[in-house]
Amino acid sequence: MKRHFALGAFFFFCFAFPSRGGEFDAPRRKMVAEVQRDAAGAASSTGSPALGPGVVAALGKVERHRFVPAGMAAFAYYNRPLPIGHGQTISQPFIVALMTDLMKVKAGDKVLEIGTGSGYQAAILAEIAGQVYSIEIIEPLGKQAGYLLKSLGYSNVETRVGDGYYGWPEAAPFDAIMVTAAASHVPPPLIKQLKPGGHMVIPLGSQFMVQYLMLVEKQQDGSVTNRQILPVRFVPLTGGH
Ligand code: SAH
Repeated sequence: MKRHFALGAFFFFCFAFPSRGGEFDAPRRKMVAEVQRDAAGAASSTGSPALGPGVVAALGKVERHRFVPAGMAAFAYYNRPLPIGHGQTISQPFIVALMTDLMKVKAGDKVLEIGTGSGYQAAILAEIAGQVYSIEIIEPLGKQAGYLLKSLGYSNVETRVGDGYYGWPEAAPFDAIMVTAAASHVPPPLIKQLKPGGHMVIPLGSQFMVQYLMLVEKQQDGSVTNRQILPVRFVPLTGGH
């Protein structure tokens, strides 16, 4: 009798509550595998043979199809950037993974992202870090991403609309900072807001010339070192600076 009840309950739960977004689980697993292959292939440039387990777990968990326009959901798990409106793009999953990995984010870290865009990168960071702050300059994008992240239960992400060049001084200093738009130089306010020992990842270069993903490390004495990682293509960092 007990067994019948257990079996009945099992079937009830399977049919009454089918797994949400189940159709995207296999494509997402495939995307994670592709991103891991890309990361292994880029090891000689990045200096890291494989993505950290936290990054892999976050990529496998965050539902990218929720962060792209409804008509794009079918392409959400391609290892490609996609348009998100307002002339902006959600970055390629491999680049999201690589940038997250380079920052060496740990549980409990306080992280700043410049360029919220769709909110996808912020969600990946929120899976790993303690608290994420993210700034977007285009108001409708920033507001939409803020609502989406809250509705998905990311209570450890705070978003704001503004010019990220100047960072988020009230919440500083940060363990890590990520800039997801290409700048001509590393914004000095962001260096100031980075903790000694902290990492910043930022694409440097202009819109029409080759850009490089840079890893900036702030030393204990406050000096900074820069390492060029990979050529990349990002939308420009805009604003009044
Ligand atoms: N991280 C995003 C991808 C962002 S694309 C994601 O996961 O979807 C880069 C974003 O940076 C764009 O949305 C762009 O509007 C924003 N941006 C450009 N200049 C900015 C600035 N000065 N401050 C804040 N955001 C900026």
